[in-house]
Amino acid sequence: MNETNLPRRDLVIAAGGLGLTALAGANLAFAQPAKAGEGGAILKSLKASVGANREYVLPPLPYAPNALEPHIDAETMTLHHDKHHAAYVKGANDALGKLAEIRAGKVDAGQVTDWSEKLAFNVSGHILHAFFWANLGPKSGEPTGELAKDLAADFGSVEAFKTHFSAAAAQVQGNGWAILAWEPISSRLIVLQVRNHQINAAWSSVPILVLDVWEHAYYLKYRNVRADYVKAFWNVVNWHAVGEWYETMKGHTSQVK
Ligand code: MN
Repeated sequence: MNETNLPRRDLVIAAGGLGLTALAGANLAFAQPAKAGEGGAILKSLKASVGANREYVLPPLPYAPNALEPHIDAETMTLHHDKHHAAYVKGANDALGKLAEIRAGKVDAGQVTDWSEKLAFNVSGHILHAFFWANLGPKSGEPTGELAKDLAADFGSVEAFKTHFSAAAAQVQGNGWAILAWEPISSRLIVLQVRNHQINAAWSSVPILVLDVWEHAYYLKYRNVRADYVKAFWNVVNWHAVGEWYETMKGHTSQVK
């Protein structure tokens, strides 16, 4: 991408960090950077995931580790954030560093495939976790506004969306995520079922609501019964944050079409 076409850093974080770099630079040039106050808790968490020198950093949990109890327990939240998420941050930075060493001739170029895979896995894991913490919250409610309207338009109803999303989450083979995503080329909401952090992703799609169904996300409390964890998840979705993010993201990308 020609750097002179890059919009302000805010939008790079908002869009580029979530897959829109797959689009040509020209497609991003129309978009306007987020204004102060737009994007809400999710954009705040994403911004806190990148440091001053563009290194990846662990963002703080936006609430106390016990804030989601009894649905998600404090011990799980602490381990998940402090250990698992932190490992993806380190893995992403390590991969970037190793690829730079390969370019510099310090590491054998035959390792490009291995480190490229690690880059995709760890960057995706890092960003999805930063997103996940902020789309959760101690209070739930229901979708409102533009998001509620579009969920009904694209899935039939909010309940039909939840049924689809829950099934995708419950049926991930092994570790992965259910992701409600905005697909800006067709101006459509879709549900993705992702294995690990990056397999079965769809280019151009921007996460709107994500659910981690790796065993580390639920096994202490729910053991092998993932379906109960998925059911409990709906009690701790921060629909206010999700709606704010959705309206901002849709507003910045809807002109792609
Ligand atoms: Mn996780």
